Amino acid sequence: MKKYSIGIDLGGTKILTALVNRETGEVIEHVKKKTKKEKGPQNIIKKMLESIEELFASSGKKFDEISSIGVGAAGQIDRENGVIIAAPNLDCYDLNLKKIIFEQFNIPVFVGNDVEIAAIGEQKFGAGKGCNDFVCVFVGTGVGSSIIKNGRIIYGATGTAGEIGHIIVDLNGRQCACGAHGCLEAYASRSAIEKRIEGALKKGRKSCILDYLEPGKAITSSMIHKSVEREDELVVQCVTEASEYLSGGLASIINFVNPELIILGGGLIEAVDYFYQKTIKKARAKCLPVPAEKIQFKKAQLGDFSGVTGAAFLEDRGF
Ligand SMILES: [Zn+2]
Repeated sequence: MKKYSIGIDLGGTKILTALVNRETGEVIEHVKKKTKKEKGPQNIIKKMLESIEELFASSGKKFDEISSIGVGAAGQIDRENGVIIAAPNLDCYDLNLKKIIFEQFNIPVFVGNDVEIAAIGEQKFGAGKGCNDFVCVFVGTGVGSSIIKNGRIIYGATGTAGEIGHIIVDLNGRQCACGAHGCLEAYASRSAIEKRIEGALKKGRKSCILDYLEPGKAITSSMIHKSVEREDELVVQCVTEASEYLSGGLASIINFVNPELIILGGGLIEAVDYFYQKTIKKARAKCLPVPAEKIQFKKAQLGDFSGVTGAAFLEDRGF
């Protein structure tokens, strides 16, 4: 077995590419590049191929020392053919990543989605180590999840199982990016919190988050954290509301899947401990008493590297 693989986390705002030691899970070197979906899929492909080349150049590794290249992209994936079917946040549709990368480097390529690779990373070297039944939930631009049962990811009939962001929490609720109304993602994601805060500011509500905001720039998880620390009424209200919805979603998952553990990750969870603590406390209170007794919650442990680490092990999936 070759000792190293390359893992790539292809997200809406950045591409993270890493050389990973498959024995220890250690990220040896990494390259980070910003992505802009407005520039189109060709730009993303160019940056991704450049990142791989930079990694070879800086590490001095040869192509034949690398076991595989694994990519996780934020979207719906045809895993067998290595094709991104639809990734609205990357503006990529029907894109054969496997073919493009293989033609360039002649190394086996495996493609999955971004939550799947993060879950594999956490399972192997992070908060899920030693646990065979858990659900990973990542809160960021959207809300995504991956279900691990008997040590394996549940993909479902079309490979889209785990779409917790689109469970419906309000029948007549807000419109979601998917077209439906009342999806969890429209209430509990970082973007949902941003929209609530921006809407209130436009109506003239006061908030200390204005001290951190720059014109034309988005509200970040770190700004939300600083405002919560200062007990800002508006921001605390919006975060509390989001945790109310997320805990409802988690309680439904606990009742339905009955996992041993839920791992929560993503920028908002990492930055805003108040959000994490509130959410897990309420989730336990909202689910049925028997699963509530057993369920454990943990924060993801590998941070930014959970995705690239897991991507380096996509080859173990076998397709
Ligand atoms: Zn939706």
